[in-house]
Amino acid sequence: MPHVPPAVAQAQRYAEAQRYTEARNAQRYRLRPDTCRNCAHLQYEVEHIRGTKPWDQYEVRPVRTNPRCGLGDFPVVTNAVCDRHKSQ
Ligand code: SF4
Repeated sequence: MPHVPPAVAQAQRYAEAQRYTEARNAQRYRLRPDTCRNCAHLQYEVEHIRGTKPWDQYEVRPVRTNPRCGLGDFPVVTNAVCDRHKSQ
């Protein structure tokens, strides 16, 4: 394996990272794709639920329940999506 000077190896890594970034942007790669969860039309109720495990039984945390679509007023699964998605 040929020796690559550190400066050249670093330049190669930067070039590769830049190529990744350009390819991601060209493909509109997203960590948070459009779903009902991040749709402006999502409606839900918030219930405060106490933990059941010994380590969180004193913890009361808000939980979103009864997710539904504000447009069609039907229940939804939060990782689904439809053609009427609206970004928040
Ligand atoms: S069904 Fe469509 S419009 Fe309704 S919350 Fe989900 S993505 Fe948004």
